[in-house]
Amino acid sequence: MQSAPKTHTQPAGTQNAGAIVVRIGEIFLKGGNRRQFFRQLVQNAKRAVGDLEGVVVEPSHLRAIVRHPPALERRVLDRLSRVFGLTSMSPATEVARDTAAMAAEATRAASALPPGTSFKIETRRRDKSFPMTSQDVSRHVGGEVAAASGRPVDLHAPGAVIEIEIGSAGCFVYSRVLPGPGGLPVGSSGRAGLLLSGGIDSPVAGWYAMRRGCRIHGVYFHSFPYTGDKTKEKVLDLARELALWQGQTPVYVVPFTEAQKQLREASGPYAVLLYRRMMLRAAAVIARRERAPALVTGDNLGQVSSQTLENLGAIEAACELPILRPLLGFDKQEIVEKAARIGTYETSIQPYDDCCSLFLPKHPATRASASALARAEAGLDTGAMAEQLAGGAERVVVKP
Ligand code: ATP
Ligand code: MG
Repeated sequence: MQSAPKTHTQPAGTQNAGAIVVRIGEIFLKGGNRRQFFRQLVQNAKRAVGDLEGVVVEPSHLRAIVRHPPALERRVLDRLSRVFGLTSMSPATEVARDTAAMAAEATRAASALPPGTSFKIETRRRDKSFPMTSQDVSRHVGGEVAAASGRPVDLHAPGAVIEIEIGSAGCFVYSRVLPGPGGLPVGSSGRAGLLLSGGIDSPVAGWYAMRRGCRIHGVYFHSFPYTGDKTKEKVLDLARELALWQGQTPVYVVPFTEAQKQLREASGPYAVLLYRRMMLRAAAVIARRERAPALVTGDNLGQVSSQTLENLGAIEAACELPILRPLLGFDKQEIVEKAARIGTYETSIQPYDDCCSLFLPKHPATRASASALARAEAGLDTGAMAEQLAGGAERVVVKP
């Protein structure tokens, strides 16, 4: 067996620092765009921990090392668990670049295992200038750890895996792998406007769009005084929950009451559908301003009468932008569970009215056609109404 090299000492100032090794997954699939995706991810991770003193994100070998004061470990992990694009993270201890230091730390980890638990050392040598192969490091350190901790080595079905990474940014030992949120870094897919109501669905839809790399802004149609300022606050609270995943988030609050009154007069059984068409038109004007080439809604096939295939088609005919509906195929219960997991549910179920439960026709149409809706709108200048709605919107920027 090779003797353990002892050429490097621990970098100054890192003696007591904690570190987290974070990994990315799908970004590796992105070929030529990989660097751009990675840069976006690092930028997002830096933003997520930006207000925590002494926390530093260091890109390294298409992964990143997040160094932090030990007392902040939980908070840093919590923040990183909301950075899309991260697939997993490991709280690690940085050690000197020699096998004695690696063995000492790995022994500490092994000794914390219940007596009799087997282990295995896995080494990754990203810095090829290190003079031993990965296998040699694992074998050497494994022998020392077994002797010092009394825990047996088992290469095939170990009770615990202790990993050693030898990289140019430093040497790390860890035994825990925590899941990241997956997806793609926010911003890497561009922007999208989220039609955000106070309900359960639309915040979850926004979350899924963010998870696939969209940076979203919210658009909320507010029917004051029929929906009160409490509802507006609720929508802004929901946006704040979403901002935890992407950083500050603009929300356009669009006064909708006047337009709604005009539409209701024109509408007969089509009221809700005409409201939705007008919402899309105004959201599209706002999207142009935000340089967003798509809209997102919480539509779900068959959930309510406005969400039949015919009605969804008749609604979206009013708008040229593509409409993303991430929740289309979910059951309500699944959406509720997701809302609870991402933290929006408690806010969504607060009991305030939403504008479309007002001004509702007794027998809403379930199979409208775009041409029937266009006929109902014939006396209205819908383009001018949309511009006016967008122009009258209040832009509120919420922070996480
Ligand atoms: P959610 O779907 O968010 O639970 P909801 O059930 O009140 O709210 P639906 O009637 O299901 O809304 O409307 C379908 C979609 O239309 C919503 O998911 C949302 O994207 C959009 N929408 C409805 N009302 C509004 C509104 N007042 N402002 C912005 N978007 C809205
Ligand atoms: Mg809904």
